[in-house]
Amino acid sequence: MRVRRLLGVLTRLGAVLAVGSLAGACTAHDSGKITIGVKFDQPGLSVKRPDGTLGGFDVDVARYVAGRLGYPPARIAWIEAPSGQREMLLRNGQVDYVVATYSITDARRAKVDFAGPYLLAGQSLLVRADNTDITGTASLQRHKKLCSVSGSTPAQRIKDRYPGVQLQRYDTYSACVEALRNNAIDAVTTDDVILAGYAAQSPGAFKLVGGRFSEEKYGIGVRKGNDSLRQRINDALEQMERDGSWRAAFVDNFGPAGFAVPDPPPIQR
Ligand code: GLU
Repeated sequence: MRVRRLLGVLTRLGAVLAVGSLAGACTAHDSGKITIGVKFDQPGLSVKRPDGTLGGFDVDVARYVAGRLGYPPARIAWIEAPSGQREMLLRNGQVDYVVATYSITDARRAKVDFAGPYLLAGQSLLVRADNTDITGTASLQRHKKLCSVSGSTPAQRIKDRYPGVQLQRYDTYSACVEALRNNAIDAVTTDDVILAGYAAQSPGAFKLVGGRFSEEKYGIGVRKGNDSLRQRINDALEQMERDGSWRAAFVDNFGPAGFAVPDPPPIQR
């Protein structure tokens, strides 16, 4: 009994300390707000609509987590976090956390920490719907122009493993997709969930080929060493996966792209 009561007190104390340190982490910004880095141009995952509102699976995850940390939607400040700027935004303290199709990798772990994973994806290829000669990574070696984004794992993987491919790196995937539409490039590579979002947005224009050739575990990036925030985000993600919100967000956002609902990935503590 005594032990249990003591544990209860310690847990409450821990919660108070954690709230205190999170508030501390946020004082650099607009007071009373939490600042979250997301993509603005990835349909299904995270998109900024013409009316300025944000939607997508990453946005739903980011909002749910903020809510559990005590920040309702009105107290969230959103910042665009393109692939090549995510570590920098976290290290400079410009964002509290990043939910931006952000793969957990050892190289990134040297600079930032990750909560999660909250979604599993894998690298694939997007081509124009009428294309017949690109069927996988091997066919790209035949002088094909491939677009990906600076600072992303798919661009790095192509550079390392397929040195014969003409890789062009843009700042965003939406810029790659426009170049694909205009015949300026032959294919776009990144995670299948991202590519499927673009394909769903322009019915009949594009198709995915080559299957899934990597495993990308999406994590929520936090500043290196901010362990209390990382743990509280992990608690929130576990709750989201348990209470049905994760599944609802998956169906809402990936329904149009035609993905079957998977089991949510276990959170790695
Ligand atoms: N998940 C990959 C990454 O973190 C590709 C998607 C992206 O660039 O956001 O690099």
